[in-house]
Amino acid sequence: MNILISNDDGIYAPGIKSLAEALSKFHDVVVVAPDRDQSATSHSLTLYRPLRVKKVKPNFYSMDGTPTDCINLAVNGILKKKPDLVISGINQGPNLGDDITYSGTVSAAIEGTLLGISSFAVSIAAREQFNFDSASEFAVHLAEMVLENGLPPDTFLNVNVPNLPKEEIKGIAITQQGKRIYEDLVFKKLDPRGEEYYWIGGGEAKWEKENGTDFEAIENNKISITPLHLDLTNYKALKIIKNWNLSF
Ligand code: MN
Repeated sequence: MNILISNDDGIYAPGIKSLAEALSKFHDVVVVAPDRDQSATSHSLTLYRPLRVKKVKPNFYSMDGTPTDCINLAVNGILKKKPDLVISGINQGPNLGDDITYSGTVSAAIEGTLLGISSFAVSIAAREQFNFDSASEFAVHLAEMVLENGLPPDTFLNVNVPNLPKEEIKGIAITQQGKRIYEDLVFKKLDPRGEEYYWIGGGEAKWEKENGTDFEAIENNKISITPLHLDLTNYKALKIIKNWNLSF
């Protein structure tokens, strides 16, 4: 099958190399990925400057754009045939709970979904010393399942894998998106010229304890698979706001 791979850590990140190598044993793989780290660029699309594509090696293309640009341009401009599957990753770092709204990794899968292609994102739920073997092996397995069964309409998968050897992973949990508690600090410092600057982040990730979430699965050393969709409508709130009987 034809598989398109991207990420948000950039084309030279070890995670995308591991994923592409694992999948290439069984499929025709093309990599189109940002030429540098584009983490936390969310679902942004570049509209006001040209995009340049560079062939790094056979079937590997880098682009001076976002993960969303990569999928969009690959499907609509570079590839001769629409891919059967889009996989984004393997991200160096978790994409759990509300954090996924910032994620470039997840957004590449969103773009694939918008273009009508089965898509999933894979991340390693750790901050350092990444071991991509388990996640790559699982991605190959999941790719087979998705290619065989397809995904339900308007659905894509957000996969987080513990940073553990295969034999230490305690199984797979199909999960719901958890809720992150944001206590991240903003650091205010002085640069060498005495000017103030700010730096976002640095806090420890905390989340609301709830059964069945992506956070819980990772805490229990399980692979988390969260089926997501793009309809952001809050159906409970829809009824409540209708009851306001707004008029104008
Ligand atoms: Mn990233």
